[in-house]
Amino acid sequence: MSWLWPEYVNHDLPLTKQERKAIHRDAWMLWWVNRWNIALYLTLPGFYLLTVFFASDVGGLVATLIGGGGLVLKLFRAGAPLALFVICFVVGGAVLQRFRFAPCVYRATRRHGYDVCSRCGYWLRGLDDDTKHCPECGSAREPITEVTAG
Ligand SMILES: [Zn+2]
Repeated sequence: MSWLWPEYVNHDLPLTKQERKAIHRDAWMLWWVNRWNIALYLTLPGFYLLTVFFASDVGGLVATLIGGGGLVLKLFRAGAPLALFVICFVVGGAVLQRFRFAPCVYRATRRHGYDVCSRCGYWLRGLDDDTKHCPECGSAREPITEVTAG
């Protein structure tokens, strides 16, 4: 599952297990201070609770639409709530991690003194100061000094 839920700390960085843990702790702190994140993450259980009671009916409807009856209908009715759960929490969670948590990890990594791209986490080592953009994703490169304060 690490392709779906990666830790977002660049594996090339010479970090100990403790340092990786510390970066994740800092990342959660950065995540937590932005209250939008909490609201966004709460939409997952919210959406789940709002829709789970209809999931079986929707599953049954889909089964009927694709012409399935009997066992197929039963499977779809039984599987729909599970599918909804996976979509909400596994896939939805991974998407939120990618767009809301990963940038926090990159910022935390920069605070630990490693010049990684704040957009994609690429390690910007060995690039001269004239390089103004990340070679991986092309986003503007932040000076490392800016993020060490605060
Ligand atoms: Zn980048």
